Amino acid sequence: MLPLPNISMPIESLSFGEEHRITVHMKREDLIDTHISGNKYWKLYHNINEYLKSDPKSPLIITFGGAYSNHIAAVAALGKLLSLPTLGIIRGEELSDARITSPTLLRAASQGMDLVFTSRDRYRFKEELEAYYTSEFPHALVVPEGGTNSSAVKGIANMLDVRTTQYDVLCVPVGTGGTLAGITRYKQSYQKAIGMSVVKDLTLKQRIYTLANSSDFNLVDASQGRYGKVSDALIAYCNSFYDAFKIPLDPVYTGKMMFHLQEMIGAGYFAPGTKVLVFHTGGLQGISGINQTLRIKKKNLLNFEDKIEGFGL
Ligand SMILES: *Cc1c(COP(=O)(O)O)cnc(C)c1O
Repeated sequence: MLPLPNISMPIESLSFGEEHRITVHMKREDLIDTHISGNKYWKLYHNINEYLKSDPKSPLIITFGGAYSNHIAAVAALGKLLSLPTLGIIRGEELSDARITSPTLLRAASQGMDLVFTSRDRYRFKEELEAYYTSEFPHALVVPEGGTNSSAVKGIANMLDVRTTQYDVLCVPVGTGGTLAGITRYKQSYQKAIGMSVVKDLTLKQRIYTLANSSDFNLVDASQGRYGKVSDALIAYCNSFYDAFKIPLDPVYTGKMMFHLQEMIGAGYFAPGTKVLVFHTGGLQGISGINQTLRIKKKNLLNFEDKIEGFGL
């Protein structure tokens, strides 16, 4: 069974927004574990524990993701931790070439995850792919890409506690929407949930509404064009954030969230006196892969790659 971490994750104060009289604090869900970090741990928590409780005859976890996926990294590391076999269905056949594959996939394989590389064309039909593996492996736990399902939403309740009830606004990055759905569902009714979307996905709002059974959330476009696009300005922002607060951000999710939060504060989006809590959802395992790509393109690197640490499960 997956344990609850020994301590609740620390909340740190960020000295910004002060000139607008906005308080911004950050809950460090990223510190749970370097490779099983943040919201991915909580999204998998009930999925895996409920599966193990059903006492499967030949346990196996199957899931889906891209070359840098935080979800793939989390499933591979949890499989190792619990001695459970895992199978990752990876988007992009070219990644089977060891010379161009990512640090995330190399590590997942070294932790015992079997990898199957699928063409982008086939990967696009996610429901069919999931249905195929569900019928081929009836005893397996099949977790969708990004880990979002109703058990995942339930797990997000663990990101909230008595400390988080004192904030007016709870802010998370959004990919598949499971995390924002959980925050929306389990927040206090007087609190606002804001999701910073790093994808352009027209089905997102409806999906969050369905998972949360509520429309009491705001979605803000923080995608800066497209998912995974890492501009020079964003790299510079993450580096200066690290210099100021000694907190590493990942450019794909939390970097874009903080960048846009700062813009919104500057534009007067929040009333003076508002207390904002942002959740650091992790994703720092992906930094070495991002730096690898930046190095090839001869761009400035994220300068905190060797400073990343979690408490460890
Ligand atoms: C996956 C992920 C998210 C997005 O979570 P969803 O529940 O898919 O919206 C946010 N931050 C990080 C670091 C992630 O890895």
